[in-house]
Amino acid sequence: MDIVETGLPATVPELTFPYPLPQPETALVDIVPGVKWLRMPLPYALDHVNIYLVQVDSGWVIVDTGLDSPRSRAIWAELFSGPLSGETVVGIFCTHFHVDHVGLAGHLAEQLRVPLFMTYEEYFSLRGWPALTELPWQYREFFLQAGFPEERLSETLIMFDFSDEISPLPPSFIRMQEGGLLPASGGAWQIMIGSGHSPEHAMLYSAEKGILISGDQLLPRISSNVSVSVVNPLDEPLSCWLASLDRLSGLPEDTLVLPGHGLPFRGAGKRVEALHSHHDSRLRNLLEICAAQQPSAFEIVQELYPAPLPVFDLQLALGECLAHLRYLLVNGRLAATPDDRGVYRYRTIASAAEGLPEPGKSS
Ligand SMILES: [Zn+2]
Repeated sequence: MDIVETGLPATVPELTFPYPLPQPETALVDIVPGVKWLRMPLPYALDHVNIYLVQVDSGWVIVDTGLDSPRSRAIWAELFSGPLSGETVVGIFCTHFHVDHVGLAGHLAEQLRVPLFMTYEEYFSLRGWPALTELPWQYREFFLQAGFPEERLSETLIMFDFSDEISPLPPSFIRMQEGGLLPASGGAWQIMIGSGHSPEHAMLYSAEKGILISGDQLLPRISSNVSVSVVNPLDEPLSCWLASLDRLSGLPEDTLVLPGHGLPFRGAGKRVEALHSHHDSRLRNLLEICAAQQPSAFEIVQELYPAPLPVFDLQLALGECLAHLRYLLVNGRLAATPDDRGVYRYRTIASAAEGLPEPGKSS
């Protein structure tokens, strides 16, 4: 589920990037004593995912793994026979269930015979993710109601075929929860949970070190994808996402953020502000589009992205469009009515000029 980040690039000049690109790119970098960083390549437009190693009492915990591919396996093998030889790994911590982060968790846990640390919803989201060769009627209905062309429905199966990129998950896991501590870390690392990009996304925060390992909850240059999923069609994830961002803006401004993609940075508060304005402008844009016409979600995506999108990106863009539409719907700014083909058409019922609903006020 990889490039789960499709938002517009949003460069924020106020951010500082104290660590340059590693050279070579897959080198293991010491961030501070007890925290290492590895930039693992991905075969996508988003060409890497960040892996971190965190030292605890009895060894190291690997934070996210990269997807399962011969190249990722080879990089891990080189690390274990090189810079990590003689080191003990005591667990695998996965921030969330997307395949670029969790793809090799099962393989590493099996090879190292160590537990997987994950939140309940992320573990079971992955365990329950359907592998499909045919769309169930519920999924057909979801896409058709969004205005997706019937003759292209088979393209949507791409979201259900990740078996080549993920090793089998371990049959058990150690549950991570908000406010809990990373096992064996002596209280140095606390679990923080965010939501919106995935259901129960775990981060690691060390007040003592002034470091947040943010996964995809806070990225420096791209906005994480916030989507309504076909598996949960009446979800409204944007409120949770914005509320999660606000929590992060409360961290000390000099907190070093170690993100899932991009370079480590300082300036979490500024980044949160930029992401808020990104979503605000997308919401305003939708209100304007739906005031002028009564489009379907698919027609809105075509208007926002006039050049044809690759199939996978089209799914993400549609999911993200639906997330913003749902936010406006539950806040009473839009109405949705099915046409005679059952396609939902969205209409603005209050002027965009009246301002947007406050984040977190939706039901
Ligand atoms: Zn990611």
